[in-house]
Amino acid sequence: MFSREQLVAAIERDELFLAYQPQMLPDGSGMAGVEALVRWQHPTRGAIGPVDFLYAVEAHGLSDELGTWVLTRASREALRWPSLTLSVNVSPTQFHKARFVERLVESVRETGFPLARLELEVVETAFFEDPGSAEAQLRHLRSFGIGLALDDFGIGYSSLSYLRRMPFTKLKIDKSFIDDVAMMQSAAIVHAVIALGRALGLKVTAEGVETAEQQKFLRIAGCHYLQGYLFSKPVPAAEIDAMLSTPPSPMRRSA
Ligand code: C2E
Ligand code: CA
Ligand code: CA
Repeated sequence: MFSREQLVAAIERDELFLAYQPQMLPDGSGMAGVEALVRWQHPTRGAIGPVDFLYAVEAHGLSDELGTWVLTRASREALRWPSLTLSVNVSPTQFHKARFVERLVESVRETGFPLARLELEVVETAFFEDPGSAEAQLRHLRSFGIGLALDDFGIGYSSLSYLRRMPFTKLKIDKSFIDDVAMMQSAAIVHAVIALGRALGLKVTAEGVETAEQQKFLRIAGCHYLQGYLFSKPVPAAEIDAMLSTPPSPMRRSA
């Protein structure tokens, strides 16, 4: 596991960077937003993905530092995409720190990025410890116009009481259901989740869309946004600039 010193040094030496993955309209005709995903360009080990260092970040109590770094960097970089929403992942640990909302709002405001175009992606484990305080934090965030997505929906407990209670604006259906959408059970679940989200007035995003068949299914099922390798892997900011200046390929538009 990485030591605290290694992680602090990585932030100080500016070895971390953000990749952005497009969130597409279901017919592939345009990009609605991007999700910021952190990476570490290690001087000797090369590129390291978040699953390989986020555990150490949490264990060394650095999720707050990393979270602020990600939020500030993403808000600055996304300023140049006025047509897009920006989604940022928030770790459950960050969520329960004192003055979390005030500090988050302050960091984003300093960059000039409009809070109404920011969306935070949260996983349900953030609510387990203290649902009352989590609900209050989410309502506070919503009062600034910040969007709230429930990430990885479908795995874990996916308690419906959270959906009823917490002021979410979006559901993200976990990739595992999209992978298996050709199977009857998964297809039924995806249909039901989209219907549930829509009935609750939420937007629904499907994660991990890799094939034209999955895209077609999700578009017909009424999913609002699609994200996955079919459209693009997470890429450096400059590649998002390039995609925005070139129209999407006809193949993806017609699926
Ligand atoms: P996530 O939030 O569920 O992000 C989606 C992950 O799925 C990303 O992996 C993305 O690269 C990958 N993905 C997207 N489309 C496809 C696809 O079509 N096929 C496949 N096989 N994979 C796809 P990544 O970037 O390695 O991130 C993994 C997890 O690390 C994220 O899962 C999120 O939980 C966490 N994470 C990433 N960046 C941050 C961050 O800045 N802060 C926090 N707290 N967590 C982060
Ligand atoms: Ca996410
Ligand atoms: Ca996910």
